[in-house]
Amino acid sequence: MQATELGFNTMLLHGVDTSYSHGATHVPIYQSSAFRHENAEELENIFTNKSMGFSYSRINNPTVEDFEKRITLLEGGIGSVACSSGMSALFNAFMNILQSGDEVVASAGLYGGTVELFEDLEAFGITTRYVKENVPEAYEELINDKTRVIFAETIGNPKLDVTDIKGLADMAHAHKLPLIIDNTTTTPMLVKPLSLGADIVVHSSSKYINGNSDAISGVLVSGGKFHFDERYPGLLPYKKYGPYAYIAKLRNGLFRSTGGCLSPQNAFLNILGLETLGLRVERQCENAWELAQYLRVLDQDFVVNYPGFFDHPDHRLASEQFNNHYGAIVTVRVGSKERAFSIMNKLKIPYILSNIGDTKTLVLHPASTIAVHLSKEEQEQSGVYDDLIRISVGIENIDDLKKDFEQAIQ
Ligand SMILES: *Cc1c(COP(=O)(O)O)cnc(C)c1O
Repeated sequence: MQATELGFNTMLLHGVDTSYSHGATHVPIYQSSAFRHENAEELENIFTNKSMGFSYSRINNPTVEDFEKRITLLEGGIGSVACSSGMSALFNAFMNILQSGDEVVASAGLYGGTVELFEDLEAFGITTRYVKENVPEAYEELINDKTRVIFAETIGNPKLDVTDIKGLADMAHAHKLPLIIDNTTTTPMLVKPLSLGADIVVHSSSKYINGNSDAISGVLVSGGKFHFDERYPGLLPYKKYGPYAYIAKLRNGLFRSTGGCLSPQNAFLNILGLETLGLRVERQCENAWELAQYLRVLDQDFVVNYPGFFDHPDHRLASEQFNNHYGAIVTVRVGSKERAFSIMNKLKIPYILSNIGDTKTLVLHPASTIAVHLSKEEQEQSGVYDDLIRISVGIENIDDLKKDFEQAIQ
């Protein structure tokens, strides 16, 4: 049976070659900075890309490579590069193709850290333009002869708007532009953006992929289908690698030079987490759906936002793209900042912290934390209000979560 034909959970467990030494059922943690070789020729071949192999863990490492192979399979790509964090993966994904004078067109409700990265890139002559509305036509309007990449997240956070990945990919390709998608909030369990036409997929694997919130990491996956023309001069020397040009350039260039590699220990923790990705995300999405409905009933004045609701503006799009699940993030507007704080403080089960994708339920007041640096107008564009609580729903028993929210609200 081909690995690509396996069901999602089987693929997580048995998709890659797991014939580890001594019959170990888990990948060894190759906690080694460098790798020795039998003779000088062998190392020369590795350094000159004539043969595959390991030389130094900043460039690659067997445990990290095992993680990369799993992600490549899950996303249906041709190759992956694991990084020290999601931000590092995003930085590498963009800077591998951009140079001074280039522009990015991106969705408005992006993860705050990514918006800050784009601000930092301005010092290097790279400008980002944001769409007001997350529809392909809005991106198209911002494209000019300097545009080199289109970027979006599958579900904006905390706005919870859903990106039309296929529509955006078709539009981008009509302009000979690649589409990069941040698939952190949905994971390949809900959607494989490469199969809808995206060219590069990026994850903060610190979230659902790791699952237990015990390691920061990121990963990017290449689909290998996009043809980078002469507007991407940095890629020209890598043309000989065909579909692998993008990955080859990273490994021989920026990724190697900036040193944002993943540690073998954290790669191992991610591989362990991956085994239960399907089970966790399924339960998290089911819990989110139930909690969202319950919050609506608890207080008629609450404005509960969840793409699973039939009356959510992007519900149809989400149904078409997302494999019958709608993510595990719910937001609720409770009337005032004071009420939001009071509810958060009275909750006994959820942790108050800035993260998503944990097995445990997490709550956050975005306006005073992750979006505090934004103007009121920018906040509203990214779906942030003073009375809004973001809930990253965990795998607890739903009845306990319901009871806890009920007592906190009353
Ligand atoms: C957390 C997050 C990131 C950044 O990832 P780190 O692992 O924290 O560096 C990027 N994009 C999204 C959507 C995220 O949630």
